[in-house]
Amino acid sequence: MSKPAPESVLITAAQVITSFDPPGVLPNSAVGVRNGRIDWVGNRHEASPEKYQQHLDVGGTIMPGLIDAHVHLAFDSQEADPVAHAVSISPEALNGTIADNAARFLRSGVTTVRDLGSPPGTVLEFGRSVQNGFAAGPTVIASDHPLTRPRGHLWAFGGQVDTVRGADSAVSHLAAAGAKVIKVMVTGGRMTAGTSPVAVEFRPDLLSAVVARAHAEGLSVAAHSLCAEGVRAAVAAGVDTIEHGTFIEADGTPSPEARAMELARQIADAGTFVCPTLHDAHPHPISFEQRGQWVRTLWEQGARIILGNDTGIPGLPPEQYWGGIHALEMAGMSREAVLHAATGMPALAMGISAEVGGLAVGMRADLLVVDGNPIADLRHLQRPTLVMARGLITSPQSQSEEDPWQASPSSRR
Ligand SMILES: [Zn+2]
Repeated sequence: MSKPAPESVLITAAQVITSFDPPGVLPNSAVGVRNGRIDWVGNRHEASPEKYQQHLDVGGTIMPGLIDAHVHLAFDSQEADPVAHAVSISPEALNGTIADNAARFLRSGVTTVRDLGSPPGTVLEFGRSVQNGFAAGPTVIASDHPLTRPRGHLWAFGGQVDTVRGADSAVSHLAAAGAKVIKVMVTGGRMTAGTSPVAVEFRPDLLSAVVARAHAEGLSVAAHSLCAEGVRAAVAAGVDTIEHGTFIEADGTPSPEARAMELARQIADAGTFVCPTLHDAHPHPISFEQRGQWVRTLWEQGARIILGNDTGIPGLPPEQYWGGIHALEMAGMSREAVLHAATGMPALAMGISAEVGGLAVGMRADLLVVDGNPIADLRHLQRPTLVMARGLITSPQSQSEEDPWQASPSSRR
């Protein structure tokens, strides 16, 4: 079927961007890839094409693979209620949805995803298949099921806790199962009836227990919070990332500007990452302008912004990745900061910045090629001309299974 991947490829281009912060732009340069890792970066005239099985001269820009730091691979975004759908379909159908979303991410240039909520075991299992070369897809950093209060947001996936002991053992269990991040529902959510998005629903003592156990296990904690009080509680508990992070008061109205500013400063001082899930196609009761203003405030105060689209929610398939890039630019972040939020910054938030998020010798060969210079015009990211994940090339235009060198059991064994 697929032909075996070449073990080594040299790619030469008009420029190579190794990092967006600090800026690393190398004109007329090349990236060498061997056995899924980068083994050379530098001026193309100093490269040794004869040492590689394949030489691709691509033009345009080679840059680090993109990251979506908030996805739900198990969700079919065409469903009105993807949570109910995910728990009602057969395991085979669910695995099909996960694999399909993963392949679509790759074609969009996304080579790493952080999955923040899926039915127990499913996405963890898929992530292992990718890691072992048995499935094509982005690297998956997964939380498995979220932790939530009894009947709290996304309780349908399990993960309901109401004692310190229960929280502690739930985290240990997830760590043993292979989760790399713990997702906690600090507030309710709009997709779960009987929960309130503007109330802190996870007890502070349980949140502290989750953070302590997760950090002891070497895992990060991602806190879903849709209101200002939830954000404050999450920062106070020492979580690593705040998801959504909208500054909304208990009555559903936007927080006064001074309070939003104060919270933004607290977040920046704590070094907490914020994944604002700001997207130009994401329906929300608060206006895009207001939410964009909060992102701008956070960014100006020095908070660490990471890009995550909540991919999988209704109407938001993997192909809409670029809408999140566009949204952060519309919010007022610089193009370099937006690109960093989509590469190096989330890698840092996930604790995998030695592996992904940049291009350097020894790092995983996750990269994409775009026409032109993305720092001058972010629209170049809409159509990558080549995507490489773990050294394997995916043809971004093709929907076919016959893509050359696509990961398959036969090509990796
Ligand atoms: Zn989500």
